[in-house]
Amino acid sequence: GQVDDGDGRLAARIAELEGARYTFIAPGGQAAIAVVYLALCATGDHALIPQTTYGPSQDLAEGLLKDLGIEIETYHPALGAGLSAMIRPNTRLIWTESPGSLTMDVQDVPAIVGAARTAGVPVAIDNSYAAGVLFDAFAHGVDISIQSLTKYVAGHSDAILGSISVASEDLRERVGRAWSQLGMAVSPDEASLALRGLQTLPVRLERSAASGLAIAHWLSKRPEVELVLHPALPDCPGHEFWRRDFKGATGLFSFVVRPETAPAAVDGLLDRLGLFATGYGWGGTTSLAMRYPQLRPPYEHYGGRLIRLSIGLEAPDDLIADLDQAFDVLTA
Ligand SMILES: *Cc1c(COP(=O)(O)O)cnc(C)c1O
Repeated sequence: GQVDDGDGRLAARIAELEGARYTFIAPGGQAAIAVVYLALCATGDHALIPQTTYGPSQDLAEGLLKDLGIEIETYHPALGAGLSAMIRPNTRLIWTESPGSLTMDVQDVPAIVGAARTAGVPVAIDNSYAAGVLFDAFAHGVDISIQSLTKYVAGHSDAILGSISVASEDLRERVGRAWSQLGMAVSPDEASLALRGLQTLPVRLERSAASGLAIAHWLSKRPEVELVLHPALPDCPGHEFWRRDFKGATGLFSFVVRPETAPAAVDGLLDRLGLFATGYGWGGTTSLAMRYPQLRPPYEHYGGRLIRLSIGLEAPDDLIADLDQAFDVLTA
């Protein structure tokens, strides 16, 4: 029943890519997250989210949702089947985000789905990292998959869009009610930017992933680096689940410099980067680097030492040369 306008076509394309029953397009990934919470939770309800979830999603949990009397409890991202001990009679939603934001923890989604199914609780995933193609959420039993299309799908840092894909007719009704009552529709013009992005998505992803892996390997050999948090490298928490469940990686990952490095030196490193821009976003054509002064538990000890990179479409050798000259700041 979709009309043939821009956002109807985009919804149909995302549903096809993700193998969803139905997809709703929203004005951003954060909007998509909010719709899911409000579609499934009411006053007195309880929901579970990983500690490594996207920060603004946690802000919403601790802010407006708390004001509404919805209790959102965080769980360690490495918790799989053990999550069943945290499910209560009033638990209405279990969020996953895999890999998680900043520290890239890959979750054992099938084990979480198993625990949730036994209790009859729906599982949602923030599937933005996989761009709708690298992790098949519905084949792994997830009920709702949201994406920030702002990232790899739109792909040029010039649109803010999100998607909410559902596995069943029941969830289509419940999510659709929240989506329409909150006025979450987007304009066809905005949607057309994501449709254009989809035309080059596989080529961009491939290039970004290959360059990202080369840079991650280079970083892992630097003496100043304590660890590289890239799902395809063994130091990444949950690497074994990435190997089992994912079709590939992207160019988004983090690294942590050794604790003896002064915070000012880390700032200096970022300041000296020339080809990399500074920015919180990811998935665009320009490579970005960002330092995170504060991290939530269980990774607060990485605060100020973790740098996230989004590798774009520049030549990988040029990006490595840029990092190489910036790293001189740490040894100076
Ligand atoms: C960026 C991001 C979002 C929010 O998406 P917007 O489109 O910027 O609103 C949600 N989840 C993750 C994991 C993100 O990185």
